[in-house]
Amino acid sequence: MFSSLDALPLAERLISLRHALHREPELGLDLPRTQAKVLAALDGLPLEIGIGTSLTSVVAVLRGGRPGPAVLLRGDMDALPVREESGMPYASEIAGRMHACGHDIHTAGLVGAAHLLAGRRAELAGDVVFMFQPGEEGQGGAKLMIDEGVLDAAGERVVAAYAVHVAATALPLGLVATRPGTVLAASDTVTVTVTGRGGHGSSPHLAVDPVPALAEMVTALQTVVTRTIDAFDPAVVTVGSIHAGSAANVIPENGTLQVTVRSFSTATHRTVRAGIERVLRGIADAHGVRVDIDYQENYPVTANDSVEADFALRVARESFGEQRVFVAPRPMAGSEDFSFVLDEVPGAYLMLGAVPPGVEPATAPMNHSPQAVFDDRAVGEAAVLLASLAAARLREAAQ
Ligand SMILES: [Zn+2]
Ligand SMILES: [Zn+2]
Repeated sequence: MFSSLDALPLAERLISLRHALHREPELGLDLPRTQAKVLAALDGLPLEIGIGTSLTSVVAVLRGGRPGPAVLLRGDMDALPVREESGMPYASEIAGRMHACGHDIHTAGLVGAAHLLAGRRAELAGDVVFMFQPGEEGQGGAKLMIDEGVLDAAGERVVAAYAVHVAATALPLGLVATRPGTVLAASDTVTVTVTGRGGHGSSPHLAVDPVPALAEMVTALQTVVTRTIDAFDPAVVTVGSIHAGSAANVIPENGTLQVTVRSFSTATHRTVRAGIERVLRGIADAHGVRVDIDYQENYPVTANDSVEADFALRVARESFGEQRVFVAPRPMAGSEDFSFVLDEVPGAYLMLGAVPPGVEPATAPMNHSPQAVFDDRAVGEAAVLLASLAAARLREAAQ
């Protein structure tokens, strides 16, 4: 187990790594400079290192001094297309890009965990896989890394996986929260194209008008939520975009809807998708129009294994003290591609507060905001938390 004190000798190095990453944010799956900084920061540690082929990932394996299973720690590394307005001295030097979700802290924190665990390598009963991941913000980098074998990087399937995410709002610096079961929503995007037959606005009987069908679809989609979804296992369906037509006296040929869907369990995810498709097809049939439904499932529900979540809460309490750790009362509506990892192996996803002291957590700018500020000290805390989870999990497996 590690405590905040263990990270102190590393703090300066990790914070300057964090600042270097923050000044030079990169987007998506291609993060060559970030990858170079990570490789340099790991240099000299007793790690087996591999890099991705379809993305600029880094996978590092630390072999423990004693036999045992392997566990995985993940840090995502990508930034966002946001113009930074944090006013911090280490602010982004690349226009229109910002580490607005704190992934610079995750990256530096995972480097810190590698240093901490390497320092106690002889005691470790098993191996640790460090997963440095590009492309969390929509590109599904975790899925690509799974396809490239990250879960088996130690030679056998990892028995558990953990990730920590920092919060610029709501959670004061150093507080840790997670919960058994669902922590984050599944997110889908649906593009609906309705095609009729265009004509003159004065003579609708000679055309097939897609507009009334589209209008009915917008309201009927809400009944999928209110009439088919359990009120205690909710879903959100939002029609964020509706487009048809160009003039008052023209019946358009077609029109489109764009819909975002969130759900918090696999069962509801299935129900809401089936309901949306059924309602759209039924309304299209009723109006004699054609409907094309492009249903994209982006990220699945992020679900903590209940045993691993309890274990992670226990480890966090041991490292940080009872008063800094709590069970999150409910999931959050964001989504995460660590869900792909947790679909394969049991594990837990934890939130770590990074609101700078003196800033009101309830009103601090949130993750993805141009004004979001994540306190530097969260880097050391993330390193300690990740390293403790790996060390404690291997120790538990050895008993
Ligand atoms: Zn984000
Ligand atoms: Zn994020």
